[in-house]
Amino acid sequence: MKTIAALSTGPDEPFTLAELDIDEPRPDELLVRIEAVGLCHTDLATKAMFPDGVAVVLGHEGAGIVERVGADVTDVHPGDKVVISYASCGTCERCGSGNPAYCRNFAQLNTSGARPDGSPTLTGPDGPVVGSFFGQSSFARYALTARRNAVVVPAEADLALAASFGCGVQTGAGAVVHVLKPGPDSRLVVFGLGGVGMAAVMAAANLGVRQIVGVDLSDTRRQTALKVGATDVLDGSAPELLTTLRQLTGGGATHAFDTTAVPGVIRTAAQGLASLGTLVLVGIGPDATLDLADLMGGGKTVRGSIEGDSDPQRFIPQLVEWQLDNAFPMQEIVRVFPFSQINEAVARSHDGSAIKPVLVFDA
Ligand SMILES: [Zn+2]
Ligand SMILES: [Zn+2]
Repeated sequence: MKTIAALSTGPDEPFTLAELDIDEPRPDELLVRIEAVGLCHTDLATKAMFPDGVAVVLGHEGAGIVERVGADVTDVHPGDKVVISYASCGTCERCGSGNPAYCRNFAQLNTSGARPDGSPTLTGPDGPVVGSFFGQSSFARYALTARRNAVVVPAEADLALAASFGCGVQTGAGAVVHVLKPGPDSRLVVFGLGGVGMAAVMAAANLGVRQIVGVDLSDTRRQTALKVGATDVLDGSAPELLTTLRQLTGGGATHAFDTTAVPGVIRTAAQGLASLGTLVLVGIGPDATLDLADLMGGGKTVRGSIEGDSDPQRFIPQLVEWQLDNAFPMQEIVRVFPFSQINEAVARSHDGSAIKPVLVFDA
């Protein structure tokens, strides 16, 4: 069948809408009619990596309605609402131990550009298109995904608010819930208040964390952070940021979370920890130089995380439940764009005016 997709054909080329052929679902796959898809920085970073002339369909925060299911799929049905997350194999020892974000086959399943057997899911007039991005390529009206990557959500879930649970929100909230695990007396500092950082703030607020400090260069974002659960905010460009942070947190944070991937910020985040504190990193950027004597002397931990160590089948239903209970105010950070305005959404993401851009298809 045919689907409209947003095609990327080069690092500096805008997305263009094109009609492509999408394959029929294999026995373990679902065909999903995408209703909403979040725009994540990984989409844009990946777009920049493909050379001119290579046609790619990105998109990895898809959510929609199941249109058709493969022959072996018995527990999902046409009409079900699903949020699509990253792909994992389900058979390696890491998947088996509840750590699918570290699946041994992660790269092949999420970034090889085709199904694991090499077959394309999307084809254009000039042949196969790079697809299966994060096992979905959901910058399109229809997406094929393995049953395992799709999480069934309640019919009342708002897909525009839930789409980014599949990656960005699960990363930020998961880093808090699964990795940092702050308690009621903890003092958490979140560096970078984009969609991932805001999700961390919201999750920490749900855990009843005593102090949640948001740091960002944008005053608008700082004000939004206060609305979604931050207890304090600081301007990241303040000259005495480290000193101020230490004072504000009574000598240092117990937990810190960096989403900026800026080396100087990561260094400050580690230095701003109290003894035995933990810093979790989720952004990828240039190598940072850390103060090792400070890390050792303070018994500090610096740890990376993929997807907030989340198992989508367990965590996304929790996020949807919070959202439906009005305890996860995604509406404060989501900005909806019609799918056809994907380039506008990219521009508003770049200039920082949209915290979490989500593309929706008009009914
Ligand atoms: Zn695996
Ligand atoms: Zn992402």
